[in-house]
Amino acid sequence: MIRKKIVAGNWKMNNTVDEAVYLLSSIESLLEEENIPENLHVVIAPPFIHLKMLTDLVQNAEYMHIAAQNCHHEDKGAYTGEISAGMIQSTGAKYVILGHSERRLYFYETNDLIKLKVISCLKNDLTPIFCCGEVLAERESEKHFETIKNQLVEGLFHLESEDILQAVIAYEPVWAIGTGKTASPQQAQEMHAYIRALIAQFYDEDVASQISILYGGSCNPSNAAELFSQKDVDGGLIGGASLKSADFVHIVKSI
Ligand code: PEP
Repeated sequence: MIRKKIVAGNWKMNNTVDEAVYLLSSIESLLEEENIPENLHVVIAPPFIHLKMLTDLVQNAEYMHIAAQNCHHEDKGAYTGEISAGMIQSTGAKYVILGHSERRLYFYETNDLIKLKVISCLKNDLTPIFCCGEVLAERESEKHFETIKNQLVEGLFHLESEDILQAVIAYEPVWAIGTGKTASPQQAQEMHAYIRALIAQFYDEDVASQISILYGGSCNPSNAAELFSQKDVDGGLIGGASLKSADFVHIVKSI
């Protein structure tokens, strides 16, 4: 099986209804003339309130999919302000970003909680984009491999083989997110190869070869092509640069 390539834009807490329609429409029209490879998914992760509207807007572009940026782990209930995976699925969205470093930092999400969210997504036929990444102090003290291993083992590797095959992993070094500092292509490749080797160790080579691993952290039109050319980098999770249609489309075309 050919591994899926994915370029996903994480809009974070940006864009009103009108702005969301405008941005998505301009991304779509810039991509219209392009030859999109069959194994490429272009994913847009807007705030929850735009999910249904955007899934309706991408109906005609088969390669485009919509993602939520988070979900609650319970199916339903008295959790004011929260959104469940089932509710996300009912909008037509296909992906959910889980364990983003901003969720871990500002909303105190732990590996144990993210594990429950992963389970809820799979139960609702949603593809989790499982984020992992080390902070600067961990890289500087050479604990980055250990950090990533813990996040994966505790948050994702509880899944059986057939279930983990539904997941996507995003390696996002926290020191590179929104900072303008990017991991070098060699640093990205080294970590992606490590993650793939871990999957092979906990599952097998066949599973490891099928899981897409995205890079995230200040990816932009000038560095995307080199990052994406690395053997184990299957695309990117893009924050800031996904808010400008020309930049995002340039990154998509770099795959
Ligand atoms: C992100 O938030 O997932 C991200 C990669 O952000 P940025 O591209 O802005 O660093």
